[in-house]
Amino acid sequence: MAIERTLSIIKPDATERNITGKINALFEGAGLRIVAQRRLRLSREQAETFYEVHKERSFFGELVDYMISAPVVAQVLQGENAVAHHREIMGATNPAQAAEGTVRKEFALNVQENSVHGSDSVENAAKEISFFFSDAEIVG
Ligand code: ADP
Ligand code: MG
Repeated sequence: MAIERTLSIIKPDATERNITGKINALFEGAGLRIVAQRRLRLSREQAETFYEVHKERSFFGELVDYMISAPVVAQVLQGENAVAHHREIMGATNPAQAAEGTVRKEFALNVQENSVHGSDSVENAAKEISFFFSDAEIVG
């Protein structure tokens, strides 16, 4: 399996509840390495651009409002098969459908406030990583 990098975001519901360390512990416990990390507050424009792929969805406006409601922690995770592995640890989008032991099963509040974002393909991971980090900020 290839060593990959993926873009992870710990979302506002989790930063507000001060559980970023608990979420990072699940990632690290699963063998993913945090090779870049920054806490920031997204601007409305940044959130709209990041989630542009969802702009026609009915929940887009609410999603953007939520993503700018509190700080987020953007991070690059590295490991074997990291993109798919991270999605597995995150669990299903809707926590009601998430498997036991996943971040969303454990921590998510509902389908929107679901604690974490993860890139869904290697190609999107590269794009999303460069949205937040320069090469020099990623230290593997
Ligand atoms: P994922 O984050 O699992 O890749 P999507 O890319 O489909 O899920 O959706 C992006 C984000 O939009 C979700 O993580 C969630 O915060 C929000 N979202 C998705 N579906 C809904 C929905 N039906 N209602 C409200 N928010 C949603
Ligand atoms: Mg997605």
